[in-house]
Amino acid sequence: MAGSEAAWQAAQQGINVVIHEMRPKVETFAHRTGNLAEMVCSNSFRSDDDEQNAVGLLHWEMRAAGGVIMTTADAHKLPAGGALAVDRDPFAEAVTAKLTSHPNIQISYEEIDTLPTDGNWIIATGPLTSGKLADAIAGATGAEALAFFDAIAPIVYAESIDMGQAWRQSRYDKGETEEERTAYINCPMSKDQYDAFINALLAADKTEFKEGETAGYFDGCLPIEVMAERGRETLRHGPMKPVGLTNPHAPDVKPWAVVQLRRDNALGTLYNIVGFQTKMKYGAQTDVFKQIPGLQDASFARLGGIHRNTFLNSPTLLDDQMRLKSHPHIRFAGQITGVEGYVESAAMGLLAGRLAAAEMQGHTLAPVPHTTATGALVTHITGGAEAKTFQPMNVNFGLFPPVEGLKGGRRGRKDRYKAYTDRAKADWTGWLSQSSLDAA
Ligand SMILES: Cc1cc2nc3c(=O)[nH]c(=O)nc-3n(C[C@H](O)[C@H](O)[C@H](O)COP(=O)(O)OP(=O)(O)OC[C@H]3O[C@@H](n4cnc5c(N)ncnc54)[C@H](O)[C@@H]3O)c2cc1C
Repeated sequence: MAGSEAAWQAAQQGINVVIHEMRPKVETFAHRTGNLAEMVCSNSFRSDDDEQNAVGLLHWEMRAAGGVIMTTADAHKLPAGGALAVDRDPFAEAVTAKLTSHPNIQISYEEIDTLPTDGNWIIATGPLTSGKLADAIAGATGAEALAFFDAIAPIVYAESIDMGQAWRQSRYDKGETEEERTAYINCPMSKDQYDAFINALLAADKTEFKEGETAGYFDGCLPIEVMAERGRETLRHGPMKPVGLTNPHAPDVKPWAVVQLRRDNALGTLYNIVGFQTKMKYGAQTDVFKQIPGLQDASFARLGGIHRNTFLNSPTLLDDQMRLKSHPHIRFAGQITGVEGYVESAAMGLLAGRLAAAEMQGHTLAPVPHTTATGALVTHITGGAEAKTFQPMNVNFGLFPPVEGLKGGRRGRKDRYKAYTDRAKADWTGWLSQSSLDAA
């Protein structure tokens, strides 16, 4: 996805591009063909609503930039209500044909197994980056800066947490500043609520790991349902331990268990549920997590998951031009930068392709406004996210700076989302026209 879009964008700016693709010579466990832009699982680009949905807005921005992924997806669209579903094989064949016939593009079917030492490169090798290249990247970045699994805890919009039940406090009030001492949001559970929660967790529908997916994984980070299967008290002695915390709403009642949420972005609009990585199916997750007191009305920016996924600690490694700080002739794009999903990956390819083309033509594009979907995502991965707990992210409105003067909470949501998308469209259009002026 990202590599195809990056190549297209740079080629359209007049740059000669070589795409290096290892398939079909070297296969991955998820791809089935040798086509570029193969959709490895679902055939959906998710919501196409560009007024009320952040991924729909990303579609809009990519169409406005002449993106090959979106325009080809539109040409191979299947009926799917408000979503953009795609006829996957004709779509991938059409993207491959467009790239193959582009006068500025060559395709070389080979595995890249070392980090290139010169030239201008965009590495967009995705969640299933081949082992040799992953080793080379880890060698250059430090092994701890390259992850091989995402273990995503669900992420909740802060405004949807009921602070009448939850409270802000770090365990044992640790921290130098008031901000640190109140860094966590805590949700208390009584014994009955905990028992009901464990029952729901044990009964929930779960997804199975794919063959070969778990190797080397389980040591670090168990799914909560696996912890619950090991013993009903395990979670109460692990991520849900109630120690070092006092509930100001009921100071005399000691909670039986406490679920903690930690800030997930600098804006403070998103919180992740600490230690709650899970393989529960999405529908089951919302049912189970809404049983947590304080989260009964929670809106989720993304649900939890555990997947094979090679990704960089981008907030520490990449600059705002998506270059590897230590090797600035190399950019990264797509899922390997810590975005998640076909559309987000393609969007990061679009941006990397344009940034690289501009640099090769001797100028630097202005940063994409943070108020656009593309800008919100790239700002998140290159600095807005908490580096220590960085996990892949979908585009969502929690990444956008607030529009002043609008009502918070559920009631104001429709107006707020419309205001975000109107502002984004104006700012993206401005950035695109400015970047073509820069190029001229
Ligand atoms: C099993 C699985 C299921 C998924 N399901 C979904 C889903 O349903 N919906 C969704 O939105 N997202 C899904 N994703 C995430 C999905 O991978 C990304 O959304 C998207 O494909 C990532 O785009 P990308 O361009 O970063 O990587 P990819 O689309 O994977 O492209 C990377 C390309 O690099 C090639 N490559 C890798 N290493 C080398 C090398 N060393 N040399 C040369 N070429 C190399 C690969 O063959 C591949 O063609 C899934 C991921 C996995 C692993």
